[in-house]
Amino acid sequence: MQEQSQGRTQWDPGRLKLTSRNRLKIKLTGYTGTLPVEIPFYVLVGKRREPGILILAGVHGDEYEGVAALQDLARELDPKKLMGTLTLVPVANPQAFHAGTRRNPVDFGDLNRSFPGNPNGTPSERLAHTLFQELVLENDCLLSMHGWSKESRLVTYVEYPAGNSVACRKSYAAARALGQEYLHPYVWPKGVLGEAAIKYGIACIEPEVGGMGTVTREGQRTYREMVYRLLSHRKMTDLRTEFSRPVSNPKIIGHSDVFANHSGLFRCHAGIGGKVKKEELLGEIHGLGGERLQEVRAPRAGLVGVLRTFASVQPGDRLVQIFYEKGKAK
Ligand SMILES: [Zn+2]
Repeated sequence: MQEQSQGRTQWDPGRLKLTSRNRLKIKLTGYTGTLPVEIPFYVLVGKRREPGILILAGVHGDEYEGVAALQDLARELDPKKLMGTLTLVPVANPQAFHAGTRRNPVDFGDLNRSFPGNPNGTPSERLAHTLFQELVLENDCLLSMHGWSKESRLVTYVEYPAGNSVACRKSYAAARALGQEYLHPYVWPKGVLGEAAIKYGIACIEPEVGGMGTVTREGQRTYREMVYRLLSHRKMTDLRTEFSRPVSNPKIIGHSDVFANHSGLFRCHAGIGGKVKKEELLGEIHGLGGERLQEVRAPRAGLVGVLRTFASVQPGDRLVQIFYEKGKAK
């Protein structure tokens, strides 16, 4: 364990009845820059209390497929068919959600670089601290639903923590169980929810679904499938669903990015999910008068995994991410 944590102060899961569905909320305390912030969440207590899974969406305020999926699953899943406690947080970062931005508009902080948080820190660090203490600790496994950003499209993939600790190996097993084609081992930067959680022995996986700020049928189907598969993998349900088909052999991927070096108009020639050769021309950046400032070329052969769709770009913006295969999953 890390330093002593204060744990929960705002609610007590022990007071919730077996086989119950509970709609609760936690309040953000201390300086938030605006009116008081409330985070609604659901706790589905099954026929027994253990194990605990926490699923969050809306950590970034411009990623919505997970938000919609959790709003629906909170009503749909039957606590009488669950073994364990399932906690669902549709919007973990309400202020960023309302602003429609990745970052918290109050301090421009990235919540997914702020965990496990600080009770006396910036608004984003306080939010991270509250979420971590009230909701994250005491779970066995976290599913942190992301959707890249509103400026880009992406091919669905699942991040898991690279490493050999018990929590890392549990995370990998959970990532595999989701049934997706692309699995991406990450050494997460400091402050990512999963980076903080695995230090407490909590498994964590972080799928990326959607992009462009959309809620689509395809995105909903994908996230629902992931949740049912995770519950089944963790032996929290014996629900047989249309998703209970065998998992195909996934690919372990790495990635390579291309960034904008100039401010201008990104004219994209590539398509999401398409295969590209090394040095293939993927797009161009033009200045305001039409002059060509940058050729955007594939840094290596692979698949176009992430593609910027918003055409106005600034230096440092990620334009394309190429996925390449590192091997087959074992
Ligand atoms: Zn995100």
